Amino acid sequence: MSSFKALVIEKTDDGQTVALKDFKVADLMDGDVAIRVTHSTLNYKDGLALTGKSPVVRRFPMIPGVDCAGIVEASDNPDFQAGDRVILNGWGTGETHLGSYAEKARVRGDWLIPLPKGLTPSQAMAVGTAGFTAMLSVLALERHGCSPGDGPAIVTGAAGGVGSMAIAFLAKAGWRVVASTGRVSETDYLSELGATEIIERSELSGPGRPLAKERWAVGVDSVGSSTLANLLSSIQYGGAVAACGLAGGMDLPTSVAPFILRSVALLGIDSVRARKSLRLEAWDRIARDLDRDKLAAMTSSIPLADVQSAATDILEGKIRGRVVVDIG
Ligand code: NDP
Repeated sequence: MSSFKALVIEKTDDGQTVALKDFKVADLMDGDVAIRVTHSTLNYKDGLALTGKSPVVRRFPMIPGVDCAGIVEASDNPDFQAGDRVILNGWGTGETHLGSYAEKARVRGDWLIPLPKGLTPSQAMAVGTAGFTAMLSVLALERHGCSPGDGPAIVTGAAGGVGSMAIAFLAKAGWRVVASTGRVSETDYLSELGATEIIERSELSGPGRPLAKERWAVGVDSVGSSTLANLLSSIQYGGAVAACGLAGGMDLPTSVAPFILRSVALLGIDSVRARKSLRLEAWDRIARDLDRDKLAAMTSSIPLADVQSAATDILEGKIRGRVVVDIG
């Protein structure tokens, strides 16, 4: 096969175009492993890339898609051989390296990990970077020494991908989970995932005080901006917040008060360049802890042809949970 179907972003004088096209195998970028992509997923960052709302894409033409599950077709990497099932999250795919909204990908073998035991490729993509990031957040809070006996955990952007996964993981780990959402209509959904209390997003938005009532022991924040600032002001003495997102904005209008008066810790979470040992640890824990029924309840599936319209929806906060892209 000298060409394959791919969603391709091209730069134009007016911005960018996105179209499903035939892409030449010869035009794939360098890498020591060739993959037949079977599944991908839709993350917030993919939405930014496909709409051009943020400068996520750093070379053109670009095949977007930051997550990939597939089967190795050929490998010059000693860790992988033809027929192996693998996954890839991040490492600049869909940004600087051609990504996975395509039937084929060529990548560096050290970016790959084997498909986690007990997960199908579709389930691994239902988890995707969003779930991987949620687990990195949980691991960071645990490493900081936080545990469910300390008090409740709060998750912001609760009905989104990272939020939904974080609720499920925290509940499984024994935390009492409070979900902050702009969609209280999703109360049943959030409760099924494991949230015991739902609060309106507006409680945490807008200008807040440097210190507010201590309400939660830990937080997983996918929203940023004033939401994260208000969260920090409301964390109990010695607690921590894992900051992993910016769905509400990239700024952080806070003060040093929570840090120097309450010993609150702000833990930064990056999924893109996380080291391999941490990836393996996170995916082992995901495969072990994730309730497959909850995963199914938060997942929908679309073909490659529908990715572009779903990209607009995710930026408008209209997607609930996770979306798998079925490539075949
Ligand atoms: P989703 O769009 O699925 O979820 C984001 C959620 O945030 C929405 O569902 C909504 O939740 C809430 N939200 C959206 N807009 C606003 C707003 N203006 N103010 C307050 N809340 C808002 O995206 P993902 O879960 O895939 O990603 C979430 C964030 O995490 C993104 O910013 C993404 O870039 C980031 N991210 C970071 C990673 C990392 O490596 N650090 C990796 C993956 C994602 P609700 O309706 O419940 O209020």
